[in-house]
Amino acid sequence: MTVSANYDAIAQCNKCGFCHVACPIFRATGHESGVARGRLALLRGIIENRIEWNDELEDPLFTCLGCGACTTNCFGSVPTADLVLNARSEYFDKVGKKPAHRLLFEHLLPYPKRLHLAARTAALGKNSGASKLANALGLLRIFGRDLPRAEGIVEKLPMSSFRGTTKPGVYEGEGKDLKIGYFVGCGVDVIQVETGKATFESLKKIGKSVTVLDNCCCGLPPWSYGDIENTKVLAEKNLKIFAETDVDVIVTDCSSCASFLKEYKKVYKDDQQKLELVEKTRSKIRDVVEFLHASEFGESGDKAKEVVDSYHDSHAVGTDAVQKVVSKDGKAIVTYHDPCHAVRGQGIQSESRELLKSLPNIEFREMAEADWCCGGAGSYALTHYDLSQKVLDRKIDNLKKTEADILVTSCPACMIQLAWGIRKHGLKTRIFHISEMTSYKESVVA
Ligand code: SF4
Ligand code: SF4
Repeated sequence: MTVSANYDAIAQCNKCGFCHVACPIFRATGHESGVARGRLALLRGIIENRIEWNDELEDPLFTCLGCGACTTNCFGSVPTADLVLNARSEYFDKVGKKPAHRLLFEHLLPYPKRLHLAARTAALGKNSGASKLANALGLLRIFGRDLPRAEGIVEKLPMSSFRGTTKPGVYEGEGKDLKIGYFVGCGVDVIQVETGKATFESLKKIGKSVTVLDNCCCGLPPWSYGDIENTKVLAEKNLKIFAETDVDVIVTDCSSCASFLKEYKKVYKDDQQKLELVEKTRSKIRDVVEFLHASEFGESGDKAKEVVDSYHDSHAVGTDAVQKVVSKDGKAIVTYHDPCHAVRGQGIQSESRELLKSLPNIEFREMAEADWCCGGAGSYALTHYDLSQKVLDRKIDNLKKTEADILVTSCPACMIQLAWGIRKHGLKTRIFHISEMTSYKESVVA
């Protein structure tokens, strides 16, 4: 779809400026071009032939985090993130894609084995200091001007991916009758491996079986860049796997993946056949937060109760680490960061708090602007390092005020960005995925 086809939606903006207060990029830069009103004015200029397609559009089009906060604050609910994303797609057609995008979206993300190999190579390079050499030689610059600086965000990379040790396949569980599919997001697979282990061990306690899916990337990275073609390649591979796998529910511990898997209908809005398949699988997709919350507080029936009981029985990998922090003086202050794809993408907000408040020896302390983007936004920090750091610094300032011992979230990309912020600011706060937190409960009660 071209920018012109969205003229009506773009023209909905009445220029009131209420979006300014909510936009993390505007709050960091103060530039009109960084806020919804400015971005929509730009799109209107393109449609009215006052602005030409050229690479000067890259910054205003690609600095949007896609966080959706402007829409929440807009009386007309103008969907700026979607409109900008759509314009990115036309930008690629008219101005061209970068080699790094092609490498990532066309040659790595559709193939988990290649991604594992690339991650292993990166781990070898990083952990041995070779990436510093590559940086010094300027080799990393082929990925963009900011990647060499952003390279420090991840402290250390695991040598083996989650699915390198836990191969895709069916694993026996201890539960009675729930067949669970575990969708492993790229972040958990190659970086947050400990989170993957915690979730997997817990799911095995719950389900009669757990199928570690041989899925590829959910497609959100190319989608966020407006690369619809490569999004379809990824979505199609995943839909085939979902259709061929006999499971009752598909759980993922990445809120971004969960949100996007539920939104595959956006990708196929003109393809009725695919839409039917999307609808069939959509009802099975669960963010691990809503899965646990529905089990503990919401859904009726013994099965749901049994699910959560067995989940809390588990002693996942993260349990010991959580316990060390909590047992410091018997009580830990815990706060929560809402990933954009959980709070605005799926409407999940109170569930995470209720789960955390139900944990023993914990004082939950709400953080100001908890639902503001952390600046991670997928690979945003790799391409717009300075802006991403400004957004992150604001988040860390808010975190400091809570004096929290533990920061919890449910998105691996947010975890990476927030961990970097904590390190950079020299805080002692530890960060955990909500899977690790909930699995800690029974170990304390026992
Ligand atoms: S709040 Fe909505 S209508 Fe008002 S300027 Fe921002 S995008 Fe336009
Ligand atoms: S989606 Fe987020 S970053 Fe983009 S204009 Fe809206 S508030 Fe700003």
